[in-house]
Amino acid sequence: MRILLANDDGIHAPGLLALAKALAPGHELVVAAPSEERSATSHAITLGKPMRSREVELLPGVAAFSVDGSPADCVKFALAKLCPASPDLVVSGINRGPNTGVDIRYSGTVAAAMEAACSGLPAVALSLGDVTPPLRFPAAALTARRVIEALVSGGFPFDRAVANVNLPNLDAPLGVRATRVNGYRYRATFEERLDPRGRPYYWMDGEKELLGDADPRSDLVAVREGYVSVTPLLIDPTAFLFLPDLKAALDAVG
Ligand code: MN
Repeated sequence: MRILLANDDGIHAPGLLALAKALAPGHELVVAAPSEERSATSHAITLGKPMRSREVELLPGVAAFSVDGSPADCVKFALAKLCPASPDLVVSGINRGPNTGVDIRYSGTVAAAMEAACSGLPAVALSLGDVTPPLRFPAAALTARRVIEALVSGGFPFDRAVANVNLPNLDAPLGVRATRVNGYRYRATFEERLDPRGRPYYWMDGEKELLGDADPRSDLVAVREGYVSVTPLLIDPTAFLFLPDLKAALDAVG
């Protein structure tokens, strides 16, 4: 396959290199990644300023480019300017840290895959379920390759969904689960400090708060228990389930 690789951790991220190494045999790769880390930038695109791209050495035989834009910019730019032919698949990651629950909304990793899907291409987002070293990206990348091959040959509905894959930080995962998104939110905290002129500035952090119980069928629990989690994410966000209720509510408007 012709595969485009992107990420949000930047062109120098170990998760990207491990993924490129795992996917290079038998596939034709193009890599386009942000020149700096762009985690938690979601689906932002750059319209108000120019972008630069340069070719970088990542892996022998692999065309790799840094782009000083967002993850979605990288995919847009690569599809228009860097890929000699339209890729058969776009893979984003492997992100350092999980993209489960509400983190999916903030994720540049998932957004890069979603950007590709919005362009009509099959897309997979990959994230490692841990941020505490040692991070086993090479092992996770080999697992990811097997999961990707299964999704591509197994009829995953890439025309309607992005596959959001979270990999446990293990040499050998216990298995693979089809999962749903577990609800949680962050209670934001802002640490206040003073700049040299005595004015306050703030560092955002947050504490994870589960909404209800942890769902044993969820992405969060699967990765926590040592399983690969694969969640289908809709490309069309319409909540079809609620259209009848919406119509009923709108009846009053006339
Ligand atoms: Mn990231």
